[in-house]
Amino acid sequence: MSECVFCKIVNKEIPSEIVYEDDKIIAFKDINPIAPVHVLFIPKNHIASLNDIDNENADVISHIFIKIREMVKELGISDEGYRVVSNCGALGGQTVDHIHFHLIGGRQFQWPPG
Ligand code: C5P
Repeated sequence: MSECVFCKIVNKEIPSEIVYEDDKIIAFKDINPIAPVHVLFIPKNHIASLNDIDNENADVISHIFIKIREMVKELGISDEGYRVVSNCGALGGQTVDHIHFHLIGGRQFQWPPG
């Protein structure tokens, strides 16, 4: 059994507030939101980080981005703007080693990030 916390969410071994799910991906509300909208999109298959994307698994990544585009329309934030972030590795601030894309919106963001 996987020790990965996001694999546990995929397998429903720990609870999460799922906002979208199909056979390949799942999207759920971040447990510690940093914005009014904060949803995590993950592949169901374990991919550790951006460093592990290759030609074999690239389809699921494009699928995630198409779903993000649909979700921002559903949420009504496509016109006002939003941000999609994937932290990679220690310096990038990645704390869960299962690739995920933060969709954050509903407030003004600054650049550069901290
Ligand atoms: O990019 P990073 O790896 O830091 O993001 C991990 C995210 O996963 C955090 O925003 C954290 O709040 C979220 N998380 C969650 N549910 C868990 C564990 C972590 O939403 N059970």
